[in-house]
Amino acid sequence: TTTGDSVLVARGLSKRFGGFMAVNNVDLSIRRGSIHALIGPNGAGKTTCFNLLTKTLSPTSGTIDFDGHDITQMRAADVARMGLVRSFQISATFPHMTALENVRVALQSSYGSTYRFWNSLKRVEPLNERAMHLLERVGLANMAKVEAADLSYGKKRALEIATTLAMEPKVMLLDEPTAGMGHEDIEPITELIRETAKGRTVVIVEHNLSIVATLCDRITVLQHGEVLTEGTYAEVSSDERVISAYMGG
Ligand code: ADP
Repeated sequence: TTTGDSVLVARGLSKRFGGFMAVNNVDLSIRRGSIHALIGPNGAGKTTCFNLLTKTLSPTSGTIDFDGHDITQMRAADVARMGLVRSFQISATFPHMTALENVRVALQSSYGSTYRFWNSLKRVEPLNERAMHLLERVGLANMAKVEAADLSYGKKRALEIATTLAMEPKVMLLDEPTAGMGHEDIEPITELIRETAKGRTVVIVEHNLSIVATLCDRITVLQHGEVLTEGTYAEVSSDERVISAYMGG
């Protein structure tokens, strides 16, 4: 694995559940500024890998470097403040708070570290304006006063991205951003991810391969907890091993 311009590097990453290796000796190198997908058939270890990268799970072995720091032993909340942020789950948005209030809470929690707190005082823009600005970025400005619970599924995901952006991520990790979405929501959320990826790095777990094809610069294919191959969509999708993995081979 080269670390040249990689912002997130996993080496020999493994996770054992009982006697089962869900992730087995995975090397991953996420290039700064890229949109990088983890794909693979069901049970390949994508979610486990994602949870290891976001420090939601601790690895059985291996190391993770983020932006030049070894974060293997760090807590999720601390790496989030450093700028490695996973999308908040929908269940983590407050259903009876408005879209605006949800983003305000996310902004306030991002000021939880001393550094960010002092930085926030220097900001000219008050909290409400910053929250509104984020809602505008995700296309929710006209729904600022709507309770999260009353938003459509697609708009909830957009709100989730706004609360993630509130943390000012260098690397934003999205777990199946289009899962459960109807066709009408997929296009706007894909466009939103493309837009928010400017100036940062995005790692996504995504089942919808046509989204991966249009959105992602690099793709890592997992199978049986191991890296099967990595490359551009054109490269991995023409790889016989990938085709047979998806056919259940
Ligand atoms: P994917 O996201 O690619 O579908 P997962 O990472 O969810 O794959 O799961 C990989 C394998 O690890 C699966 O066989 C799953 O059953 C197993 N697994 C995941 N989480 C646990 C857990 N907490 N305990 C035991 N086995 C698990």
